Amino acid sequence: MTGAPTAAALPPLREVIARHDLIARHSLGQHFLLDANLCRRIALTAGDLGESTVIEIGPGPGGLTRALLLAGARRVVAIEKDARCIAALQELAGPFAGRFELIEGDALEVDVAGLGPPPRRIVANLPYNVATPLLLQWLRQAQAFESLTLMFQKEVADRLLATPRTKAYGRLSVITQWLCEVRPAFTVDRRAFTPPPKVTSSVVVLTPRPQPLAPASFKALEAVTAAAFGQRRKMLRASLRRLDLDLAGLGIDPSARAEELEVPAFCALARALEEKSG
Ligand code: SAM
Repeated sequence: MTGAPTAAALPPLREVIARHDLIARHSLGQHFLLDANLCRRIALTAGDLGESTVIEIGPGPGGLTRALLLAGARRVVAIEKDARCIAALQELAGPFAGRFELIEGDALEVDVAGLGPPPRRIVANLPYNVATPLLLQWLRQAQAFESLTLMFQKEVADRLLATPRTKAYGRLSVITQWLCEVRPAFTVDRRAFTPPPKVTSSVVVLTPRPQPLAPASFKALEAVTAAAFGQRRKMLRASLRRLDLDLAGLGIDPSARAEELEVPAFCALARALEEKSG
């Protein structure tokens, strides 16, 4: 890209952090990635950014933001809740004029699909304290996005990727895999962050399916998975008793446990629940 800034033209990230006194706050899930190679690796994992509206959640001091812009993102729209980071991030508006937009606010309150034309890609080193609610919010409109390239704590990433009959398989696995293909990208050692979190992190790529795996409504699927996994050690006949569904009639063994059911079986339960409740 002719005339686009290079990394060398930008002030070092540590200098930006010191100048703006960005001491990480635990309450905001702040663990900053200062390693430019790692940030670049995340940006390259996110696919073809050149034609995309890239939505970054929680840019912090801007390490990943720079990487996305340097990797040639057509436009990056970043949402940051911490007012202290805003002045630091605004320094990117000059070098990347016309390609960088900053929104100060809570990403949970923003309709991110409205931030720019498709193809839209979400890329983020997520604040762990709100990572799951954010993901569920985006999944409700999964088809608005081309891909979601997200860093989670490894335990959450494992749940997104989990297959039936494993300990990590649960509500989040079912709902995510119903709507998206999920691919592990790479894990990141806790020492790569400033300050280091207590646990290892993983980058996962979610690619929304053209159609969900099987018909079901989000609300009903949430309800059946909440009931089934809420008492995951119990047989379905007990954990789903309150929903009063004809399990055998749906081809589901009433003595099975939630973790044995594949995603399409949960969808069948969700459709039955919807029919029943009109
Ligand atoms: N992207 C930066 C990096 O990789 O160094 C920072 C990542 S840090 C794990 C998470 C960031 O999300 C912090 O900058 C934090 O202030 C921000 N954040 C926390 N809660 C948020 C929310 N509800 N909406 C938007 N940003 C939030």
